[in-house]
Amino acid sequence: MSLMDTLAQERRGRLAAERLLELKQAELFAANEKLSHRARALSDEIVVKRQEVEQVRSEAEALKGENTQVRSDLRIAERRLWDSIQTIQDGFAVFDSDHRMVTANSAYLAVFDGIEEVRPGLKYGRALELIAEEGIVDLGTQPSAEWQAEMLERWNGHDPEPRTVKLFNGEYIKLIDRRSPDGDTVSLAINITETIRHEVELKEARERAEAANRAKSAFLANMSHEIRTPMNGVVGMAELLQESELCEEQALYVETIKKSGEALLVIINDILDYSKIEAGKLSLKEDHFDLEQSINEVLTLLLPTAREKGIDLLLDFDVLLPSRYVGDAGRIRQILTNLIGNAVKFTADGHVIVRVVGLEVSDTGTTQLHISVEDTGIGIADGMVDHIFGEFNQVENDRNRKFDGTGLGLSITKQLVELMGGEIWVDSVDGEGSCFGVALKLPRSGGGDVIPPNLPSDLKSVAIIAANQMTGMILNRQLSVFGVNVQCFKSVDAFRGAHAADIDLILAEADMPNVDPHDLTRTLADDLPTTQIILLSSLGGMKADDFDGANVVSVLKKPMSRRDVHEILRHVPEPDNMAEERPPLPPIEGSRIKILAAEDNKTNRLVFARMVRALNAIVEFATNGEEAVAAYHTFKPDIVFMDISMPVVDGKAAAQRIRAIEAEGDRTPVPIVAMTAHAMQGDADDIIAAGIDYYLTKPLRKADIEDRITALLSDTTPRETPTGAAAL
Ligand code: ADP
Repeated sequence: MSLMDTLAQERRGRLAAERLLELKQAELFAANEKLSHRARALSDEIVVKRQEVEQVRSEAEALKGENTQVRSDLRIAERRLWDSIQTIQDGFAVFDSDHRMVTANSAYLAVFDGIEEVRPGLKYGRALELIAEEGIVDLGTQPSAEWQAEMLERWNGHDPEPRTVKLFNGEYIKLIDRRSPDGDTVSLAINITETIRHEVELKEARERAEAANRAKSAFLANMSHEIRTPMNGVVGMAELLQESELCEEQALYVETIKKSGEALLVIINDILDYSKIEAGKLSLKEDHFDLEQSINEVLTLLLPTAREKGIDLLLDFDVLLPSRYVGDAGRIRQILTNLIGNAVKFTADGHVIVRVVGLEVSDTGTTQLHISVEDTGIGIADGMVDHIFGEFNQVENDRNRKFDGTGLGLSITKQLVELMGGEIWVDSVDGEGSCFGVALKLPRSGGGDVIPPNLPSDLKSVAIIAANQMTGMILNRQLSVFGVNVQCFKSVDAFRGAHAADIDLILAEADMPNVDPHDLTRTLADDLPTTQIILLSSLGGMKADDFDGANVVSVLKKPMSRRDVHEILRHVPEPDNMAEERPPLPPIEGSRIKILAAEDNKTNRLVFARMVRALNAIVEFATNGEEAVAAYHTFKPDIVFMDISMPVVDGKAAAQRIRAIEAEGDRTPVPIVAMTAHAMQGDADDIIAAGIDYYLTKPLRKADIEDRITALLSDTTPRETPTGAAAL
């Protein structure tokens, strides 16, 4: 190879090497580039991490600082709490769930007077032993072991009751122990010596005040009693003086003395009662009494005043409620007199209603009674309702000032009701009226109760004509209980205007304002001649006989008792057709038939007279058997109606005597019809033996009486047995 070639070859080799070098340099560069990139990224990452580390470090530093602060705060709080616990004068201790003392303040430890054993770790039971052994607590007469057992039992309880102990030095400590949720027990020992001393002082002061009050009341009671005795003399003498010859002026003076004396007596009696209650000297009696009768008596006493003022007095005694109870009848009457008396006093027009309802308290033999006294008077303002039950308290306004009184009545009434274990209240609307209510629980007393007649009777429909709609409402309720349909009318005109064809009985008020009772009954008789009328009147002395020409069967007194209501129910109406179709009885041997009726009860005599009135007979009454026998001689009756149970000589004995007289004189036996309330089989035998021909059971029916008489007139033998009566 030539040099040229060699040189060219070398040049080519050098060029190739240079190219390779270039290539390798480029690769190296690229690798360097990559490396420097990664190095930069790494250094960035390191910077970030460093910052983070820096932050965490500073946060850790801060936390460390805070922790130290918290710990120190905690120590301060703990120290403060403990200082406070140490400062309080009451004992404080904590026991763990194992009943060992964890900590106790110095007040708690002080009572143990430095006993070394008393320190954290001491068991509660051992503390009790130490207390008892060292005489720290005054145990009184209680044996130490018993006291410890009792205290331990209390401590072990789920939620120990606070307990007061007396220390040897006379101080009183109240122990209050509370369990914490983790089983510890926090124990407080509070010194209550001062409070106890105060309580004792207060109790003594109250006892002294009560004793003084009792002495005052006893003095008042004695004084009132002393004053009452001569006052009775003043009033009594004034009454006697009134009966003597007096000129008009003297009579006025005596009347004034008497009235003033009576007023003073009322006040003195009130004060006497009040003082007795206050002095605790009023004891309640236990009488067997009739509540309805007591209310009726009080109403009867107040009736004249009510009538003078034109007020209606009404009684609404639950129809089926027993009326006999055991209680202090006199004091109950006093309560009623006060409430009903006030109602009448503070009412100028309208009505006063006494309502009584009751509920049997099961299996106790007692009844929860509610008595309310409702009036349409001046009422009581809202704010005064509590005030009036206080002693000497009255409503002070123009309307009230004109009424006299002491203001003691309601206070006494309230105390009496409460003494009986009852309650009293009032509902009132100023200017419209008041309703005072009394709730009393009284034992029931047997016997003597008003028993309603057996129903249903033929009495289906009753019309009530009463100006006061309350009368109608009360009767409506009482009669509806027995299935009687009641229609109420405010006047006769209203009654006549309505369709009243199916009315069995009319109850009409006889003392409606501006209505003459005679005109009233005549008008009714014109329209419904066969319908029976019962009049209701608060005026005494009105009789059914006063109303000739009208079918008035009786006059009932207002306020009506339940007996009166039952009397209404007993009125079985006559079927109209029978009353109308029955021809008048033919005369016996040209003269009128003579009926002798022996009956001791006045009302029954009246009923009998009404029933035979249409027969145009001559009726003679005897009020006992002896009179009946005498009348048999003098009156010579065609028929005898004989009540069985009568005073002096009873019906059977009288019949026997009449039969004996007839036998002796050989006379024709007169028909004798017994009227008896007891239709018992045994009675019937006795009645036959006495020579009686028939018996009719009460209540008597007009048709049966007429049938007996018709049978007598048609033929005397054999006689037929009428329906509703029995032949013997
Ligand atoms: P007195 O009637 O002697 O004043 P009470 O103690 O019986 O004493 O009554 C106290 C007061 O209560 C009465 O003075 C009267 O103001 C008010 N009061 C009592 N009952 C009624 C009533 N039915 N209607 C309105 N006010 C009444």
